[in-house]
Amino acid sequence: MVKAVIIGAGMGGTSAALALRHIGFDVEIYEQVRENKPVGAAISVWSNGVKCLNHLGLEAQTAKLGGTMNSMSYINGLSGEVMCRFSMLPLIEAVGQRPYPIARAELQLMLMEKFGVDEIQFGKKMTAVADGADAASVRFADGSSASGDIVICADGAKSVGRDYVLGRSTQRRYAGYVNFNGLVAVDEAVGPATEWTTYVGEGKRVSVMPVAGNRFYFFFDTPEPEGLVFEPGTAKEILAAKFAHWTGGVRALIEAIDPAAVNRVEIFDVDPFDTWVRGRVALLGDAAHNTTPDIGQGGCSAMEDAVALQFAFQDHPNDPHAALLAYQAARTERAGELVLRARKRSDVTHAMDPAVTQAWYDKLREEDGSSILRGIADNIMGGPLT
Ligand code: FAD
Repeated sequence: MVKAVIIGAGMGGTSAALALRHIGFDVEIYEQVRENKPVGAAISVWSNGVKCLNHLGLEAQTAKLGGTMNSMSYINGLSGEVMCRFSMLPLIEAVGQRPYPIARAELQLMLMEKFGVDEIQFGKKMTAVADGADAASVRFADGSSASGDIVICADGAKSVGRDYVLGRSTQRRYAGYVNFNGLVAVDEAVGPATEWTTYVGEGKRVSVMPVAGNRFYFFFDTPEPEGLVFEPGTAKEILAAKFAHWTGGVRALIEAIDPAAVNRVEIFDVDPFDTWVRGRVALLGDAAHNTTPDIGQGGCSAMEDAVALQFAFQDHPNDPHAALLAYQAARTERAGELVLRARKRSDVTHAMDPAVTQAWYDKLREEDGSSILRGIADNIMGGPLT
């Protein structure tokens, strides 16, 4: 039996664990935190991510946790003018699966429970990883160690495994904006209950998407310099000041938020790279492709990695080196392409060149939905389950 050691119990690590266990691997997950406390309110799991969750045997649970998004709209954040509004059903039909925005903690718990929460080894911070002739091994901060036929480093955006696999440290690139996010009760003054509503203006973006339980996942993107000091609990007053002159829907959203439950995240990404594997050690998820969240594909890509890893071992059952190289070959181009698409989208949304952003706002007024949905479909298609 092949033994896989997985570092990180995020959505990438847990998905990989389920995918490999499905083909009979002995899987161990090691996670640095002592308890499951995901940072961030929710994510949009686009149809490619949902197909991966379905593949992992989570179809019914995913549908239960997911919000229903039937339409999309863009609204001028300053005037309240609806720039465009259209159905998402043609997209769902084209790609063959509904996308689901899901509360992050609920998604994480679903994946962990499917694996077995008690089987995850918490409080294990990997400090070093090494490839070997017959096995790969890791060391933890508590002095313990583990080894397996393969080690999958799903240790997130600030990956230790990445430095080992690349043989150098990488610089994360600040994308120029900050994202405030959280959950609120659905309020039609902010947006229709089954719509992904996005307010834009001044290079800022305010968005709500439905998740299960009559809640909206909300986020505010605002361009800011890197490293500003943030006092936890002050998000509401910061947002009220930044958006005081915006339209009523945005002000109603700010009024509704619980400042104690708002996350503030500086957004970074990493230039795509093609080396994900060193012998028996492989990267997966944000460790391999850290992206800005502007096309909602980071977590979906991590899930795609997990399924691709499973397929690579099904194709090369007795050769870990060949399987990991096949995994790398299957994934680097697509995942890197999504990072660059997200970066481009981020620059347009956040007015890195104000003239380009103004042209985008003008284009939104002529949009019937077809070109936006085509762009989303292009992001969704191309993974291991297409
Ligand atoms: P993580 O979720 O970061 O998990 C890594 C795990 O490894 C963590 O639990 C961490 O504690 C653990 N770990 C780290 N280092 C060590 C170590 N040394 N030893 C042991 N354990 C370790 N994606 C989407 O698909 N759709 C979206 O809508 C979306 N929205 C986003 C919005 C924001 C604001 C942000 C920041 C991201 C968003 N993403 C979205 C991206 C998504 O959150 C990530 O791509 C996803 O979480 C990556 O999963 P992962 O398992 O690779 O990493």
